[in-house]
Amino acid sequence: MERHEYDVVVIGAGGAGLRAAIEARQQGKRTAIICKSLFGKAHTVMAEGGAAAAMGNVNSDDNWMVHFRDTMRGGKFLNNWRMAELHAKEAPDRVWELEEWGALFDRTKDGKISQRNFGGHEYPRLAHVGDRTGLELIRTLQQRVVALQQEDEREHGDPEAFIKVFAECTITRLLKDGDAIAGAFGYWRETGDFIVFDAPAVVLATGGIGKSYVVTSNSWEYTGDGHALAVLAGAKLINMEFIQFHPTGMVWPPSVRGILVTESVRGDGGVLRNSEGRRFMFDYVPDVFKDKYATTEEEGDRWYTDQANNRRPPELLPRDEVARAINSEVKAGRGSPQGGVFLDVSSRLPAAEIIKRLPSMHHQFKELADVDITREPMQVGPTCHYIMGGVEVDADTGAASVPGLFAAGEVSGGMHGSNRLGGNSLSDLLVFGRRAGLGASAYVDGLPARPAAAEVADAKAEALAPLERTGGENPYEVHHELQRTMNDLVGIIRKAGEISEALQVVEKLKERSKNTGSSGSRVYNPGWHLAIDLRNMLLVSECVARAALLREESRGGHTRDDFPVMSADWRQKLLVCAAAPDGSGVTVEEKVQPSMRGDLISLFERSELEKYLTEDELAEYDAAVK
Ligand code: FAD
Repeated sequence: MERHEYDVVVIGAGGAGLRAAIEARQQGKRTAIICKSLFGKAHTVMAEGGAAAAMGNVNSDDNWMVHFRDTMRGGKFLNNWRMAELHAKEAPDRVWELEEWGALFDRTKDGKISQRNFGGHEYPRLAHVGDRTGLELIRTLQQRVVALQQEDEREHGDPEAFIKVFAECTITRLLKDGDAIAGAFGYWRETGDFIVFDAPAVVLATGGIGKSYVVTSNSWEYTGDGHALAVLAGAKLINMEFIQFHPTGMVWPPSVRGILVTESVRGDGGVLRNSEGRRFMFDYVPDVFKDKYATTEEEGDRWYTDQANNRRPPELLPRDEVARAINSEVKAGRGSPQGGVFLDVSSRLPAAEIIKRLPSMHHQFKELADVDITREPMQVGPTCHYIMGGVEVDADTGAASVPGLFAAGEVSGGMHGSNRLGGNSLSDLLVFGRRAGLGASAYVDGLPARPAAAEVADAKAEALAPLERTGGENPYEVHHELQRTMNDLVGIIRKAGEISEALQVVEKLKERSKNTGSSGSRVYNPGWHLAIDLRNMLLVSECVARAALLREESRGGHTRDDFPVMSADWRQKLLVCAAAPDGSGVTVEEKVQPSMRGDLISLFERSELEKYLTEDELAEYDAAVK
């Protein structure tokens, strides 16, 4: 079997994985980057709006404290506050570093990196490249990897001496030596041949879980692999009940349902209307945000040119609020003909400006829906977009509870609390990708000896099982039933009876998946790949549903029809998913979140905190501000 030895293995080549790998290599570690899809094709490349960083280029009032406050508000104060602090403080450096490495951001008139408005951000904060920011981010990080390889070629005569990419290679199991990580096992997608990586440190950077849902902005490889690999290796997941349904996915034609329509459309002036032509978002501003959003269309419109003297339009509320509002309008029979609502930029900006600011959106609608967004509104509706939940990590180092395991980016949990603000993911990848690379390198430096990977034979047998079942169940059917179940029963609005029903279906699907088989050989066999991925999607779906059932309140990306109110008691609790000791699935337990540090909590007004905190916590606040 093909076998390689590295110091740090990074699973995932999106923004988090690349940034972690660059850091590990810069720390002198022999580093492997493994990705399931082609190198360069990760979700990060699809990010349109930009990277949030309080550089203050467009509004000099912006700074890390404002960004921190916005992030905590967006996450409804459930965020790991240490992560939110590090993120707000370090994001500007990470964006400037990208520029040093060759990224070409859009500029302000005076030549600074331009920043755009986005939902939940008080000031224009997203550094961007048109609506193709993720592409530039990945291009720049890949270019940095190549630059490091060129250095290695000069110094060691081998460009891959210290950093090597293994593309179209799927990891199916983490390998351990006792309690500690010892490597990873996987297969080449093209040939089906197996591959083993021996390494004392593994960084998970595998992105999201969207493929457990039928309507999603996520592409094929987002099957929750990193989440599942972590649980199966003994690590824990937090916040899994919080799933972000982006308010604006395409709803038509059916073949492209769920594909993202960037929030920049609203950030740049686009408005949402129902079938009666009403800008309905004015009817949906929740009490906690009432003083921050315009109450009339005139004020909202003035905000685009005069932010100092006007409040922002409610189309720019955090995503969870907008998604729920759209959902309610459609349910009330005021939706668009194809089951969404109207998002109009055509009556708000000149055609040339739309094409300049939103080139991908213009192209996407023209090509996929035959709609010219410079002339007519788009039809949009909520789509499963992002998971706030993920591997529980140490904020400073990215370390999970299993020695040698690290996680960064969308696969990690905590940073975004119950709801992520747009633009905060790209900056999260850079800040915590770097920190995980540093954390993994420091861990390797501190080890007395290299671990030895066991369990390779088991991992191989598990991967081969679907091919050995002749006449087994069709994995596509199991997958489709899972997607429908999650969409319909653990979707944007949830209730106990439906979630319980979903859990029963998941149990049955788990049994059925043990019998899924795929015909054919190991050579490029998508049916076999899906049969392997099903284990991960089922595990992750079980975590989402179990945590959703336990959390009896509504907050951010978790809305319970039967518990519509946000509860201060629940804010203090994290739900932690772990592998059940008997191997039957997952367990979920409550854990109390540590209180916010005094200097951070005193950045907020007491009147705002009263909306979120318990009496005991408010007493701590009073003590901190004294
Ligand atoms: P990804 O970029 O998702 O990369 C995951 C990597 O892991 C891939 O290389 C994949 O092949 C690999 N992988 C997965 N499983 C395995 C396995 N088993 N073995 C080996 N490799 C594996 N965020 C913003 O901040 N701003 C935006 O404007 C924005 N726009 C978005 C637009 C779209 C359409 C989407 C889908 C998301 C958007 N987001 C945005 C969210 C953001 O892009 C993602 O959250 C982020 O890119 C995730 O980055 P990541 O590095 O964690 O993982």
